[in-house]
Amino acid sequence: MARTVIIEEHGGPEALKLVDREVGEPGPGEIRIAHKACGLNFIDCYQRSGLYPMNLPQALGMEASGIIEAVGDGVTHLAVGDRAAYAAVPPGAYSEARVMPAAQVCKLPDAISFEEGAAMMLKGLTAQYLFHRTTPLKAGDTVLFHAAAGGVGLIACQWAKSEGIRLIGTAGSDEKCALAVEHGADVCINYSTEDWQARVQELTDGKGVDVVMDSVGKDTFEGSLDSLKPLGMMISFGNASGAVEAFNLGILAQKGSLKVTRPTLFAHIADHDVCQEMAAMLFEKVASGKVKIRIDQRFTLEEVPEAHRTLEARRTTGQTILTL
Ligand code: NDP
Repeated sequence: MARTVIIEEHGGPEALKLVDREVGEPGPGEIRIAHKACGLNFIDCYQRSGLYPMNLPQALGMEASGIIEAVGDGVTHLAVGDRAAYAAVPPGAYSEARVMPAAQVCKLPDAISFEEGAAMMLKGLTAQYLFHRTTPLKAGDTVLFHAAAGGVGLIACQWAKSEGIRLIGTAGSDEKCALAVEHGADVCINYSTEDWQARVQELTDGKGVDVVMDSVGKDTFEGSLDSLKPLGMMISFGNASGAVEAFNLGILAQKGSLKVTRPTLFAHIADHDVCQEMAAMLFEKVASGKVKIRIDQRFTLEEVPEAHRTLEARRTTGQTILTL
């Protein structure tokens, strides 16, 4: 049995329930992992609230680290006793242990702690695909990145710096902006108090940026399009402020032949080999110190409702984990 956080219906943080669940044995292509720590992600809130509807009841949580306890037939890249970490579907990481498909589970290098592993897989692999698999980006390009002091944000600031990419961040307070700059953003605009669109124009001599990485969604989408250079690329990858509303495709032509994509990590890591290659690059960034995993909040399984409230109230910075 393993203590596991589930939802039986969509709703607020009070919908999160801690229950005992049978773990079982892995079938072909599966492993059983005893978790050491789990990562908290904004997507967990979308799944809990029903913004991303799910079949219920459903355990939550999309990333964790731990030790492999059992290996099913056909799994060759993992063995009993291995340190491991993952970002994966289906959800179920808010748990002491689980059985799950092995394809997205990666061996965790000794240089990376279990807490770092739990905090970095989903957000770090997201940074990997944003910078390397979504649109060509090269040193000297300028990226506008919203919520730059958040979980994905602080990793993205460091990732950009390590690739020679100029990152203009935005964040909701002066303290968060200072943190983003400390982690490699060239500049960070407090979008709660400043006219961020005007500042972006000022910072780019009126030209606009090459790429926007926008996970705030509803509140920033239009301003983000207006911050792009002609032929620029809008990567809309989240909805922290609400889902982006439908719009007329024609505005992309009017604003200068813009491109828009709405990616998800899980399409990028669906293939085992691709997932392991992406993870190898992430592990290199972290093990070499180019990207540091900053864990600013720790909660227990009992405290998951409070963890969700804190994340949704914008009171977190960097990474948040559940300790076991
Ligand atoms: P964060 O730690 O970045 O938390 C979200 C941040 O969004 C908040 O701290 C806040 O920062 C900002 N924000 C802006 N408006 C709101 C609002 N109305 N309510 C709440 N927060 C708001 O979370 P994660 O690192 O877990 O994820 C960042 C984003 O990236 C999320 O939108 C997530 O869904 C998305 N994502 C998408 C993936 C994909 O593949 N498509 C994969 C991983 C993450 P501030 O106060 O500075 O504004």
